[in-house]
This record gives sequence, C-alpha cells and structure tokens, in this order.
Amino acid sequence: MIGHLAKAGMSMTADASEADVVIVNTCSFIDASKHEALEAIYEMSDGKATARKKGQKLIVAGCMSQRYQGALPVVEGAKGRVELPKVDAFIGLDQVTNIVPVIHKVMGGEAGMTEFLAKTTTFIPDFDTPRFRLTPRHSAYIKIAEGCNHPCTFCIIPRIRGRHRSRTVESVVKEARQLVAEA
Ligand code: SF4
Repeated sequence: MIGHLAKAGMSMTADASEADVVIVNTCSFIDASKHEALEAIYEMSDGKATARKKGQKLIVAGCMSQRYQGALPVVEGAKGRVELPKVDAFIGLDQVTNIVPVIHKVMGGEAGMTEFLAKTTTFIPDFDTPRFRLTPRHSAYIKIAEGCNHPCTFCIIPRIRGRHRSRTVESVVKEARQLVAEA
C-alpha cells in the first residue's frame, strides 16, 4: 500500500496531525491485535492523542475491514460488539493496490463508507508490485504465498485471507534479485 502511495508521489508523515488522510491498517486475528486496532481507530477518530487536521479523512484498511464487512461499522471486539466511530471508508484486502484512487474519491467526498470491500480476497503481490521498504537495508520480507485451505475450527485466517495461492518461483526470485540490487 505504501509502495502505491509513494509511486503516486504522495508524501507520508508519522505525524497524524499533518495528514490529509489517516490510514489505520488493522489486524483481526487474535483479541490483542483487534484491541490494538480498535484503539488506533478511536484515537484517530476523536483526536484524543493528536489534533486532527481540518477536513482530515480516516480510512480503515486490512483484516478487520475484511472480516466484519457485512456488519460494519459494528465489529466484534475482545469484550463484545462495538460500534466504530466515524470512518470515511473501509477498504478490504484486495483494495490495497487501489489505495490512490480510493484516497482521491474519499477526499472528494464521494466515497461510500463500505463501497471498497469485496466478499472474498484473491490478491497476492508480484515482483512488479510497487513496494516501499520499511526494514533496514540488510533485510526485507518477500511474500511467497497467501491464504489457507485448511479448516482448523479455532482459526479465522481462511475466512479473512481467502483460498491459498502461491507466487511462482520465477516471481519470487525476480523480486529477491531486485531487492539485492537496491540494497
Ligand atoms: S493451517 Fe489452520 S491454523 Fe494455520 S492458518 Fe490455516 S486454518 Fe489457521
């Protein structure tokens, strides 16, 4: 997602009070991560921790949006159902590559809160997917597969991340070579 923002020439800041758009990227796997995601959404929506910039938009991305898409803005928190505060748009896992047009639409005030959600997810990045490294020069993550086909009853991953799919060996090797060349 950051790779797409950088490619479009958008600047990023760690200071939320400077941002035209705040994106909270959520996890929804275990209770602790859900709690952390909910705290971040509340903090960014009511400006407790930071003064919000006038007209600032809030986008919630990631697994929490994907998992609770049918019920949003209500989600199942660690202590039961909670209604999220005002969010301008939720985006699902397959919409990360569309983050730039999503932002333009949200900034224009034309976006529906849940219009950027799809029931299932099939996305997996390729060697030419824009990326912006957040790790030190000597290390980088490469995603080689996504999703899961197993039905373990205690695990929500298959329902959030979709059916298992793998990248080709050629694609992974090409990305590894690119990362080495950039290091
Ligand atoms: S193998 Fe089971 S525990 Fe592991 S991700 Fe798949 S469903 Fe979850």
